[in-house]
Amino acid sequence: MQQRTFILGDEDSFENVLAGISDEPSYKNASGRLLVVFEPNCSPEHCAPKIGQMVAALPDAQMVGMTTLGPNSDGLDMPKNTMCSLLTFETSEVKVFSYDCHKITPLRAGQQFVGELTKINDIAGILFMSSSIDLLPAPFIDAVSKDYPEVPIFGAQAGTKDFAFDQSMIMGNGQFFDRGINAIVFSGKDLHVQVDYNMGFRPLGREFTITECGENGIVLTIDDLPAASIYERYLNVTPDQYFYDNVCAFPLLSVNNNLLIPRVPLSCTEDGALKFSMNLPVDERVSLGYSKPEYLLRETLTSANAMAKFKPDALLLFACMNRRIFMGNEKADREFAYYANANPNVCWTYGFGEVYKTWEGGGILNSSLVAVGMREGAPSDAPIPEYVDIELQNTEEKTHANIPLSDRMITFLEATSADLRAMIDNLSLLAQRDTLTGLYNRRYMNEHLGYELSRLKEGDRLVLLMYDIDHFKRINDTYGHDVGDGILRELTARVEEAIRTNDVLSRWGGEEFLLLFTRADPSLAMELAERVRRHVEERDFKPVGRVTISVGVTLGTPEDTVDTLFKRVDEALYEAKNTGRNRVCMK
Ligand code: GH3
Ligand code: MG
Ligand code: MG
Repeated sequence: MQQRTFILGDEDSFENVLAGISDEPSYKNASGRLLVVFEPNCSPEHCAPKIGQMVAALPDAQMVGMTTLGPNSDGLDMPKNTMCSLLTFETSEVKVFSYDCHKITPLRAGQQFVGELTKINDIAGILFMSSSIDLLPAPFIDAVSKDYPEVPIFGAQAGTKDFAFDQSMIMGNGQFFDRGINAIVFSGKDLHVQVDYNMGFRPLGREFTITECGENGIVLTIDDLPAASIYERYLNVTPDQYFYDNVCAFPLLSVNNNLLIPRVPLSCTEDGALKFSMNLPVDERVSLGYSKPEYLLRETLTSANAMAKFKPDALLLFACMNRRIFMGNEKADREFAYYANANPNVCWTYGFGEVYKTWEGGGILNSSLVAVGMREGAPSDAPIPEYVDIELQNTEEKTHANIPLSDRMITFLEATSADLRAMIDNLSLLAQRDTLTGLYNRRYMNEHLGYELSRLKEGDRLVLLMYDIDHFKRINDTYGHDVGDGILRELTARVEEAIRTNDVLSRWGGEEFLLLFTRADPSLAMELAERVRRHVEERDFKPVGRVTISVGVTLGTPEDTVDTLFKRVDEALYEAKNTGRNRVCMK
């Protein structure tokens, strides 16, 4: 396959720039032809004639396009001219599907598209584009990845020139859509697609939970406070017209399967709600992300060098403007240069959100750089040298001589965050445990029992056992409290020998224990309890000698609550005590 990328100046037309290509053999004999257009000028008057020009220039090709972000902040080198890339295939096929989302929801469109996919063999990848900042197209992507989890989906949400005035559009099949979805299917036995997801942001500080959401990408509250208050509290950013510029370097990060996913609020309302270009689910755990330009560059350099090894015949990049705002023009250009090393015909765009969905996870993201390489057949023998970024190496050396203050502050925050996270993990572990025996404590067991009961289905039974040491007061009185403590530990170890590791043993009170058998056969409940009792009885506990336990057993049903279950097992234990101790009773 072959990629040709062109930039159209103000005076250029598609006809002029693409003239002659239709006579070239690689075009004439192609099995599939796709013209991809990224258009920075979003006005309908400008875009409408473009459609006609595109069709006239290459009537045998399929065409898709999207508007890209224009400059919304001073000093940013954003695309000013139309960029187009012509992909021609030798054996593979390409098919464009466009949906007008004034007429069909993203979910329905996704279901229809999945119907189309059933007619296509050897699908290697799907290029996705959507328009309208208020169109939340995730249901389309989810519908496809549900049935085709192994097919990578990549692309972007179209951008707009003036951020505050959404004129985003996609073009497809000779029309343009101000609210629509393009899905382009690449297929062929010989077609290979490699998709990179570059991010480079890292979680900072503690985790938060999204607690309330509205429609259309609105997050109302985080940790039950107005969502924007995390930006106010931790970054001193207030909800004003500079909000986006001040928060875009601090995306909200959440974990999706194995991927860390960044999302940036596009705006903020006066009452502190955040507006995203995708829906975020209630209960999602998020933290603020931060980065250093080097982190971004290093990650991209590694991916781009891996992409060079893949030897792409064609290369498309979908980037987030946040990266340019964050790193500045020079470094943002360098990221593209890394990929240009893998294929100099690389074509790129900026949108409202990047799309990356593979078996790894993902969805609609911000702050990332998604790269898509395509190749037909085996990689060529011509070597592509690894890209070496001298600047990046120099930065590393320079920082040792004179570490910038901001870098030292970031290092301090990183180390403190890591310490705090470790402490929180440790504390939450402690909060579940009893210090003397190391067993789960009553609080944990209460919760766990409730959870296990809630999972019981009609006819299911769980086996719960409660035991209490017989005449334990005598042991304390005779040998002292320390020996008593030792017996509690030793007895615990003894009981653990008689059960399986995934059975849940807890210290319920002083010398009372609750034991929940995991997936035990209820008809064996008495036998299991008897085994535990006997195993304790048979031990010589030094210096005390024989120590026995009385055991109550009960079977939990879906109708039980933790209280009813506990009441029964306590009654069973009481009966064992009253009928002679060192025995098992069941209720
Ligand atoms: P039985 O259960 O057979 O009726 O008699 P018992 O002597 O075990 O009776 P009871 O439950 O009234 O006494 C429990 C004793 O366990 C009382 C308390 O001092 C002791 N105990 C509770 N927690 C601990 C602990 O952490 N360490 C020690 N050494 N003793 C404890
Ligand atoms: Mg006792
Ligand atoms: Mg007791």
